[in-house]
Amino acid sequence: MIGGIAIALILGAVTWTFLEYCIHRWLGHDRRFRPNFFGEEHIRHHSEGNYFAAAWKKAVMAAIVLALLVGPTLLLGGGLLGSLYIAGIVLAYLAYEWFHHHEHVSPGGTRYGRFTRRHHFYHHFVDPKVNHGVTSPIWDFVFRTYRRPDQIGVPRRLQMVWLADPATGEVWPQHQGGYALRGPAPRQP
Ligand SMILES: [Zn+2]
Ligand SMILES: [Zn+2]
Repeated sequence: MIGGIAIALILGAVTWTFLEYCIHRWLGHDRRFRPNFFGEEHIRHHSEGNYFAAAWKKAVMAAIVLALLVGPTLLLGGGLLGSLYIAGIVLAYLAYEWFHHHEHVSPGGTRYGRFTRRHHFYHHFVDPKVNHGVTSPIWDFVFRTYRRPDQIGVPRRLQMVWLADPATGEVWPQHQGGYALRGPAPRQP
């Protein structure tokens, strides 16, 4: 039984990573599916850099996805395992929200954190048609949309708060191998 519980939770989390890829790639970036609720918010996230949709909008979107999943899941998986599978999806979704936000607001303290940031900011600033996974590149490998980032040119007006020294406007030395700022420098007073 313990094995079944763990498998249901893990399958739920893996399902979320797949949903994360599909929602981002097709609702966020495929013109055939626009306009749509997620796409509008996501384009703003790209064009304004540090814009994140309001919590209530995320909650509406999550409720719609859950409403579609709950019926078939409980029918197929039964009450307990079906509920745990849904719990796995919800927990992984909440972890994704936390993770994505932190990619934008903090430099990342681990190798994996730095890797996923480069993966994500390559998508943001170099090619929005690739690297759709935010918490991992797994589904980019599966769908052949993975690109290994070289140096990422970040528009100055969209830069992440952790990228450059606010006093000089220069990229911090530890990030210079991976990122460069482009666009006009702010005028010195
Ligand atoms: Zn982002
Ligand atoms: Zn995107």
